[in-house]
Amino acid sequence: MTGTPILSTHALNGGYGDFQALFGIDMELHEGEVISLIGANGAGKSTFLKSVFGLLPVAPEMVRYDGEAVGGTPAHRMVRRGIAMVPEGRRLFVGMTVEENMRVAIDNARLPEDEGQWTRERLFELFPILREKRRQPIEDLSGGQQQMVAISRALLCQPRVLLCDEISLGLAPKVIREIYAILPEITAAGTSIVLVEQDVSLAREASNRLYCMLEGRITLTGASNDISRDDIAAAYFGAS
Ligand code: ATP
Repeated sequence: MTGTPILSTHALNGGYGDFQALFGIDMELHEGEVISLIGANGAGKSTFLKSVFGLLPVAPEMVRYDGEAVGGTPAHRMVRRGIAMVPEGRRLFVGMTVEENMRVAIDNARLPEDEGQWTRERLFELFPILREKRRQPIEDLSGGQQQMVAISRALLCQPRVLLCDEISLGLAPKVIREIYAILPEITAAGTSIVLVEQDVSLAREASNRLYCMLEGRITLTGASNDISRDDIAAAYFGAS
């Protein structure tokens, strides 16, 4: 691809203390793109997103965003600069209402509310059920509805880059389709997306390009349409 990526990583190494989970990851996300990171359990996909988002330590030059080295910048500052994350497992706050959960990230990052294109009103149009349930405790919502809250919470930060960690996990196929159907609206609004996804078919359909990860390394990358199922299987499981 040509042009400067909005987000890129450069020989990114990362992990937990002495345990290295990522080995020299090079990744590029261009404006308007959706890329998917696929791979088996424990391949390092979540660790990668956390490393990009400033939740795990990395050197500044390992992550570039909008032309600047930002590796290791704390997450709340990443949010202010235009990167938001939908974390694995949603991480919503039990005992708080839907609307309170939606506001958590903008409050944390001290961002203004309802400025920019992702207003609460627009999100309620996108997910009408959330308007209905806005004053209910989050635990009263189904898994799919909670995922909508987690996505809304991130979008209220007006991100230029959205990092999504397994947003389909544990959801019924119908709900997954409903949630994935909004991704084109998000990119049309100017937000580029990194998807971590275990469902390879879903990842291929939803993204322009795929990265396949195995044991902390990228084993395959290319346009989603061009990569064959056999190539993916080999890259996924390490078969030769
Ligand atoms: P999953 O689909 O299961 O989330 P993943 O591809 O996202 O898999 P990671 O969660 O990034 O994989 O895990 C990569 C490696 O890092 C694994 O070996 C895992 O055991 C290890 N790991 C993950 N979280 C921690 C942690 N908090 N402390 C130590 N090691 C961890």
